[in-house]
Parts: sequence; structure tokens; C-alpha cells
Amino acid sequence: MSENKVAPPALRCAACGVSATAEDFRSGCPFCGSREPTHDPFEDVTISLNWQECRMLAEFASQWAVARYKATRWTALSNTLDRLRRVRPNGAPALTNADTAREMPMMEGAKRRVTLSPEFPD
Ligand SMILES: [Zn+2]
Repeated sequence: MSENKVAPPALRCAACGVSATAEDFRSGCPFCGSREPTHDPFEDVTISLNWQECRMLAEFASQWAVARYKATRWTALSNTLDRLRRVRPNGAPALTNADTAREMPMMEGAKRRVTLSPEFPD
């Protein structure tokens, strides 16, 4: 009855996202070594959020991580924010204030290029 065997429950690393058994995670993630709490994939949920709601949660989480944890537990949150950044709607504002600040030089450069060299479009 080997076809009826149940696979051992897999857990997912909060830092890198790799899945492995609880035994594999006994002394940290077998892939990245993170010792952050693992995620149970059976607890995954699918929800619908407006981008502005994502921005609000991301900004508060980022600020809280720095204020409360001095960014020592940053990897899991950082990876979650990266997953959100990948689904940013076209033309929507950046996810966090820090992202907006990082994008400013690019936006300034694009504006300057258009303003100073309108006769030489890219
Ligand atoms: Zn990992």
C-alpha cells in the first residue's frame, strides 16, 4: 500500500521560501540557514487587497521592524515586501516611502532628460 503513504508535512522557510520537512528544519533552514519561524503552507490564504492597503501595511510593518526589532528579523518581512513589489500595478505609487525615495533619482533623471533634450528622444 505504498501508494497510500502520506508525505511528511512540509514547512516553508520564512526567509527564502524553500519547502522541507519539519525534520529538515530542526536546526534551521536547510537552504539558507535561517532560524526564523517557518510557515505552514496549509495556512496560506488568498485575499484581495487594494494597492493602497498593501502600501499602508508595508509602511507600518517596515517602520515597526526598525523601531521594535532594530531590523534584526528583517529577512522574512523583506522577502514578503519583495513579493508585494512584484505585483505593483502599472503606474501605482511605490510600496513604501523608502521605495519612493529610491525611485526619485530615476524619476528626476527621466524628467530632466525630457526637459533638457526634447529634440533627442530615447
Ligand atoms: Zn531559508
